[in-house]
Amino acid sequence: MATSFTTPEEDRVINDAFREVLDGYLASNHRKKVEIIERAFNFAKEAHKGIRRRSGEPYILHPIAVAKIASQEIGLGSTSICAALLHDVVEDTDYTVEDIEQNFGKKIAQIVAGLTKISGGIFGDKASAQAENFRKLLLTMSEDIRVVLIKMADRLHNMRTLGSMAPNKQYKIAGETLYIYAPLAHRLGLFAIKTELENLSFKYEHPDAFRRISEQIAASEASRADVFEDFSAPIRRRLDQMGLKYSAKARVKSVYSIWNKMQTKHIPFEEVYDLYAARIIFECDDPAQEKSLCWQIYSAITDIYRLHPDRTRDWISIPKANGYQALHLTVMGPDGNWIEVQIRSRRMDEIAEKGFAAHWKYKVGEGDEESELNVWLHTIKDILNDPEPNALDFLDTLKLNLFASEIVVFTPKGELLTLPKDSTVLDVAFNLHTQIGSHCIAGKVNHRLVPLSQKLNSGDQVEVLTSQSQQPKPEWVEFLATAKGKTRLRQVLRKLHQPAITAGRLTFEKFLLDNGIKDDNIAITKVMGLFKAANREELYYLLGNEEIILNDYVVKILKKESSKTKRLLLKLIGMGGKEEPKEEEAPKPAEINRKETYILRYDEDGNTNFRFSDCCCPLPGDDVLGFIEDNGEVTVHTLDCPRAAMLKASFGPRILSTRWEVNGGRFMAHIRIEGIDRHGILHELISLISTHLSLDIRALDIRTEKEVFHCDLSLLVSDADGLNDLCAKVRRIQGVQSAARIR
Ligand code: MN
Repeated sequence: MATSFTTPEEDRVINDAFREVLDGYLASNHRKKVEIIERAFNFAKEAHKGIRRRSGEPYILHPIAVAKIASQEIGLGSTSICAALLHDVVEDTDYTVEDIEQNFGKKIAQIVAGLTKISGGIFGDKASAQAENFRKLLLTMSEDIRVVLIKMADRLHNMRTLGSMAPNKQYKIAGETLYIYAPLAHRLGLFAIKTELENLSFKYEHPDAFRRISEQIAASEASRADVFEDFSAPIRRRLDQMGLKYSAKARVKSVYSIWNKMQTKHIPFEEVYDLYAARIIFECDDPAQEKSLCWQIYSAITDIYRLHPDRTRDWISIPKANGYQALHLTVMGPDGNWIEVQIRSRRMDEIAEKGFAAHWKYKVGEGDEESELNVWLHTIKDILNDPEPNALDFLDTLKLNLFASEIVVFTPKGELLTLPKDSTVLDVAFNLHTQIGSHCIAGKVNHRLVPLSQKLNSGDQVEVLTSQSQQPKPEWVEFLATAKGKTRLRQVLRKLHQPAITAGRLTFEKFLLDNGIKDDNIAITKVMGLFKAANREELYYLLGNEEIILNDYVVKILKKESSKTKRLLLKLIGMGGKEEPKEEEAPKPAEINRKETYILRYDEDGNTNFRFSDCCCPLPGDDVLGFIEDNGEVTVHTLDCPRAAMLKASFGPRILSTRWEVNGGRFMAHIRIEGIDRHGILHELISLISTHLSLDIRALDIRTEKEVFHCDLSLLVSDADGLNDLCAKVRRIQGVQSAARIR
């Protein structure tokens, strides 16, 4: 084989890397289909010959690394290893899917085809392209789950080597990873990969915070080890007496989740009390014994330490939807702090770290069970079958389901349903069947009659009551929490409304014809605005149901509007007169130069060239990014705002880097102060804020519970520094425990 493009040293590195893939595979429980793997390797090596990655290394090292992750970190077998080795061949070389099929068979070719389809970013620059790519990903996923698992391995390797990518790509890839790949990894039960993806994205998005927290973890390690030794020694003695083989370790939270906690709770590193959990992993050859061993260990620990009454989680009797199994409890350690203990068998630990694919290692015979994962995949298929008109709605609904924490409810027959938190009786009805949902009138929760909007709790027994006279209603969408429920409701509504929609469309077309209005696109947009219809369908429906009518007034508006639009068009192509005085026009997106830093201006008269977003309440001086809205306005978000993360991932080219240039002005900010109540403390607090710093308080809400007080304060400040300064001063008041900005 010609290897003229690589040095002998590089050939050795390539062969060693491939050897590691093979060795790992041979050590697993999979069948030993070495020949086809070697062929796939040689094929890929030949196809990518002479190509190098941006880092300078031979390209083939990337597919080898992806194959290694797929095999050793996800637990996949020979078909996936081959597909991983070949995953970029069709995309990047002259070979086709047909070539792959001829050499490696249909299955591998299908997976490679799936991977090729979803190559590049999930998100394009337009919302529609973004949703379309996401659909493709999910569609291929529901056809063969291995496609998305290998995609996950591909993304993980790209994240591990992100440093050598072009800087402008780093931002987008990291954003996209955090926005969609990490939640997807979570849903697939790939816990270790999810954590690593989050940490890597975080490292590129907030390098300073990442370094700071990593250093703090390292600095506190010695003292943490001492505490854990004190805590675990008596437990070890008991487990040894019981004759168990096990390992007991302290598991520190990931940098990213520590940072998340600090952000959401507004606490410094030192106050993250659940910085680590204890994990006990025991060896057990007989799966039938696992459950009772877990509870024996539980019992041993609670003999030693005081149990937190409501933090026991039994994910053995009812595993999480992503397959996670373990028994969690929280006890009070010798130093008086609560500590979580996670008990699992070796098998459960493998599933927890590697996800569902790890099952295959243990499964003898074929997998026949309808796993929760399959149930989820079916849901995805359901959603995909519905051509959702609004792309962003579709994404949001799906993401909602990726992230949601779960509850488990029962049908009267004892069947188990896993649902997202905040699901209602109606969700259960629609998840059982579209017909049941459509005719749902109420429910019985634990034998008590409740409305169909009733939110459910884990453990509830739910019975759905239906009536043939019931009709589905559009407002029901408000209290559906499941993607499946929402999709099914929209489907039946659309079907139900179809005759009216068709009638409405005909009415509208006739109306345009009768009045000689030509440009129906402009006309329909205008009429939709007039009647506040969200989309065409809604407008047609209202018309068809005769809830609105098209009278002379509408004609007048349309005719006037179209001539004005014409003038505007003429002006744009430089043919119009200048008779018309300029109205307040927002800057067009095209006029904003994305290459340069956008300067956020605010003058004494209150004129701005931007808008503060409502979600994160930025202040001048904050690290912010600008986002060009559809109407050309620039909205400002803080860098750590979740919405900003979504925008970054989805609309890269519409993001602006910014600089503040603010003269004067006061801006609304919110802070929360907590502390121990003592006589005079509030007086001290208010006088500090109002007189000393001459700030303007707009709202004040103080609650005291026993000795503790909470104070939420809204006030006008000039910038972020001023506010941080104020918080620092407030913290110095005796009795105040914390004072921090909230959003
Ligand atoms: Mn790749």
